[in-house]
Amino acid sequence: MRPTRSDSMLHTMMAASVTVTELGFLQECQLWRLRSPHFPSKVGGRPAWLGEVGVPGPENLQCGVCMKPLAFLLQVYAPCTGSFHRTIFLFTCRDPVCHRVAENRCYKVFRNQLPRKNDTYSYGPPPDSPPPHGEQHISFQLKCGLRLCRVCGCLGPKSCSRCHKVSYCDRLHQLMDWKSQHKELCGQEFESSMDDLKLNEDELTALAKHENEEDKAFSRFKKQISIEPDQVLRYCKGGEPLWISLQYVPAENDILNCECGAKRAFEFQVMPQLLNHLKVDSLQKSIDWGVLAVYTCSANCKAETRYVQEFLWKQDVPADTM
Ligand SMILES: [Zn+2]
Ligand SMILES: [Zn+2]
Ligand SMILES: [Zn+2]
Ligand SMILES: [Zn+2]
Repeated sequence: MRPTRSDSMLHTMMAASVTVTELGFLQECQLWRLRSPHFPSKVGGRPAWLGEVGVPGPENLQCGVCMKPLAFLLQVYAPCTGSFHRTIFLFTCRDPVCHRVAENRCYKVFRNQLPRKNDTYSYGPPPDSPPPHGEQHISFQLKCGLRLCRVCGCLGPKSCSRCHKVSYCDRLHQLMDWKSQHKELCGQEFESSMDDLKLNEDELTALAKHENEEDKAFSRFKKQISIEPDQVLRYCKGGEPLWISLQYVPAENDILNCECGAKRAFEFQVMPQLLNHLKVDSLQKSIDWGVLAVYTCSANCKAETRYVQEFLWKQDVPADTM
């Protein structure tokens, strides 16, 4: 079993301070440990969904700026009183253009919870050993039968109209996969016409080229953070974020209340170390943040039957230090 380079486990460590803050570091690990039944905290790859009910669909996982599908950034497994299983998922747009100063809409955060006794996972702890051989590869289907997008691992309601064997969240990801591999795989088995896919080669080429460039930057980013041992996450539920500067600090009413009406409280922050190496890229523009502070419902309202959207505040790096 080889450790993965593209997916990294978030490893948390207790640090002594006045309020207890747990620091998250990145560590390479075996792929099977990053699957849903092991309740991982992880960076990169595809989301390891917790509950299978109410997994956010493409309409919920669009960038609020460019409307393209968001990319999974990380997830934090953070059970708390009253929630035996609890995971926070963070998504971001991979288009640097959307990451403007004071722009938070290119991020989305979801919280999901499950009681210990549930239909998906065993009551006891998961076995600390790899699953049987056949179950080791990535599954693009939830246990309940819902299919996941082949590209991003989010809910995939659209399927290839020729073979109906692969699913996608969105036409954009269908096109990406078509160009990169499915065109050949699909054609081998089916001779039928293109049906309603109606792909325009030029459109595809342009898109694939663009996506490739973005993908390169993004996978470089993920590769870099997998070898970067620095602290990338500070977890301190109910505590205070550690701001990088005095600019772009949210006022109390900037933190929107949960849809249930309860106030949201700080839970964790993602550090800019996660981005360090992306910034030295030759790319003119790159995804950038100072601090990503995640605020969650202080009432920890019901997220057993769906994924409740939470709030993220991006603090930009002050202009004079760039
Ligand atoms: Zn965007
Ligand atoms: Zn997708
Ligand atoms: Zn197909
Ligand atoms: Zn709430």
